[in-house]
Amino acid sequence: MNQLFNIQDKVIAVTGAAGVLAGGTATYLQEQGAYVVYLDLFQDKVDETVAKAKSISDKCCGFACNVLDQGALDSVYDQVLKTCGRIDVLINGAGGNMPGATIGPDQDVFDLKIEDYSKVLDLNLKGSVMPTMTFAKAFKQQGSGCVVNFSSMSSPLAITRVLGYSNAKAAIDNFTRWMAAEMALKYGDKIRVNAIAPGFFIGNQNRALLINEDGSYTERGQQVIDNTPFRRFGNQDEVYGTIHYLISDAASFVTGTVVPVDGGFSTFSGV
Ligand code: NAD
Repeated sequence: MNQLFNIQDKVIAVTGAAGVLAGGTATYLQEQGAYVVYLDLFQDKVDETVAKAKSISDKCCGFACNVLDQGALDSVYDQVLKTCGRIDVLINGAGGNMPGATIGPDQDVFDLKIEDYSKVLDLNLKGSVMPTMTFAKAFKQQGSGCVVNFSSMSSPLAITRVLGYSNAKAAIDNFTRWMAAEMALKYGDKIRVNAIAPGFFIGNQNRALLINEDGSYTERGQQVIDNTPFRRFGNQDEVYGTIHYLISDAASFVTGTVVPVDGGFSTFSGV
């Protein structure tokens, strides 16, 4: 592999690693020779994911870890350092939405359930801030390390109905820039913080919203396609290369960026 893109033996912790985009990325990175620490909420999901990962190589382990539980994060941090001696990359993939934090088709914004809104803010914002504060301590000691956050197209553009999730992802963009500056100013140019902003990919959380059972697009799905110059949804493997680039030496002068991976959605006025 070209040295610039060599991630062989990097120790990479991935949250939400039993999910579609983050999980697929974790597997891809392990296939490229990295040691991957798979983190997700439930033990059974983690066990299933790690069992599959072991068929790629022995360079993996996994822990059930709620990204909002500081005790669990500290425990994983200690175990990874004990096993691997270092942590090179954190990918903050845990995230998601819930119905109460969205405006249903027959509701208006005043029906928002503020408790659910808070939960979605917590998962999608604090759920990246807390792991970063935990794992980046190793970066400070090593003098090197990378964070990749997951933003969304619902951050720069108003997308109807998804209020809490959009607010949280917009804050992720700000956190990415803020933390990038803080790390570089205090600890030098080998610690980098970036984010990717996926456009529309079919996942468990949005499948029913975008695709009918017969495979045709829902009305909302069609609206997305109409506003995407590539005229299709993303395939999960289309985020891997951007993340690979961001954590490799090829991006050694890149920090604080939010890279759209969206088939042109964010560049298009719709006209
Ligand atoms: P996914 O729903 O497939 O996976 C998310 C994973 O996070 C799940 O395995 C879930 O168990 C885990 N999780 C949830 N709460 C957790 C917690 N408290 N602690 C630890 N793990 C927890 O999502 P995905 O498609 O892999 O998305 C990855 C990231 O990309 C998310 O932040 C998502 O918001 C973002 N994103 C996804 C899309 C898309 O179209 N799929 C688009 C834009 C952004």
